[in-house]
Amino acid sequence: MNTTENLAHRTPVAELVETTGHAGSEWLSRYSASLMGVFGTPQRVLVRGAGCLVWDADGKEYLDLLGGIAVNALGHANPFVTSVIASQLATLGHVSNFFTSPTQIALAERLLALTNAPTGSKAFFTNSGTEANEAAFKLARRNSGGGAAKRTKIIALEGAFHGRTMGALALTAKEAYRAPFEPLPGGVVHIPFGDVEALNAAVDDTVAAVFLEPIQGEAGVRPLPPGYLRAARELTSKAGALLILDEVQTGIGRTGKWLASEDAGITPDAVTLAKGLGGGFPIGALITFGAGTSSLLTAGQHGTTFGGNPVATAAALATLHAIENQHILQNVAEVGEHLRSALAALTGVTEVRGEGLLVGFDLDADVAPAVVQAGLDAGFIVNSPGPRTIRLAPPLVLTVAQANSFLDAFPAILQAAKDAQ
Ligand SMILES: *Cc1c(COP(=O)(O)O)cnc(C)c1O
Repeated sequence: MNTTENLAHRTPVAELVETTGHAGSEWLSRYSASLMGVFGTPQRVLVRGAGCLVWDADGKEYLDLLGGIAVNALGHANPFVTSVIASQLATLGHVSNFFTSPTQIALAERLLALTNAPTGSKAFFTNSGTEANEAAFKLARRNSGGGAAKRTKIIALEGAFHGRTMGALALTAKEAYRAPFEPLPGGVVHIPFGDVEALNAAVDDTVAAVFLEPIQGEAGVRPLPPGYLRAARELTSKAGALLILDEVQTGIGRTGKWLASEDAGITPDAVTLAKGLGGGFPIGALITFGAGTSSLLTAGQHGTTFGGNPVATAAALATLHAIENQHILQNVAEVGEHLRSALAALTGVTEVRGEGLLVGFDLDADVAPAVVQAGLDAGFIVNSPGPRTIRLAPPLVLTVAQANSFLDAFPAILQAAKDAQ
């Protein structure tokens, strides 16, 4: 797409903000003068997207292999999702939770069906992943395992990432995220990752809940070992503790299944969702399984102004519809398999992890941040969750040809990264 076509792409937004004709460098100096520095300096100023491609303010094109961190499930500017959002907004945009709307109810029903939730299961909608986990945290506080004593202990894993608000941050393991904000809501104990013995030792009748990510995304795409979820289900059931799965990153088709935990053949007590759910529109959800868990939070005990609004729930309905009707889960499985096996064969790649289109791979040197930069220079967006780890979480509609364009370019990107060290 050249600059002329770029300029021709005018929208009503362009009447409010001149989105073209300013260099990225100019935007970035305005950014640093006006936005809080918590994200550091943004890598690029993006102005437009279509499918798996995005363009920056300087007209450069990128293959987006990060998908807004596992969010843009159907790629950018998906025409179907866009038209559903626009038509819902033009019909009824927001009503507050004093009221409900058909899209909210239909989405709850749809999610309960997709997750094989038993009778009595319920949904609660939020605007983000961290809010879904906050709701789950509050749910856990209400679980006494059937006994009279209040249970305040919660188990999470080393390496866990559950969000940045205070409750979700308490569940998050990373010291650099936590330490500046202590004291955090109490009672959370982090145990070694993927260690059934450690879980067995930790889960007793003082534990309200165990929070697990089936695949730890922020920790570099680390799947729980086979059998772990099953063991966690048995141990928590025995102790009267809730098993809460954070599928904010892994859910909604990311691994080629609706939920990454599907294959474990267990029914958790709750699942949290967000990232891919709205196809790029902000929405999260807490699903509680069974009537007992679903009634732990009662009228007045939790709430949200925006959560579950007609537009967000319509966006999610559109996303789920497209994933199902365009056979996207199959695409995720096939392209993901291809990507992982091809990556494993590349020189300089020492390990490949993940499932579907959530892919992590390790390099033979601590050059991952430099690979991100060299990737951008070469027209590819990737992410480095660790010093030698690269994460890919592209739109679920990525094609084999697009995957191959990255695989072909990767040796030169890695070399450029090493040369830049
Ligand atoms: C991204 C993420 C969150 C937090 O979601 P936000 O929408 O950023 O608040 C929580 N858990 C997991 C596993 C995530 O990947």
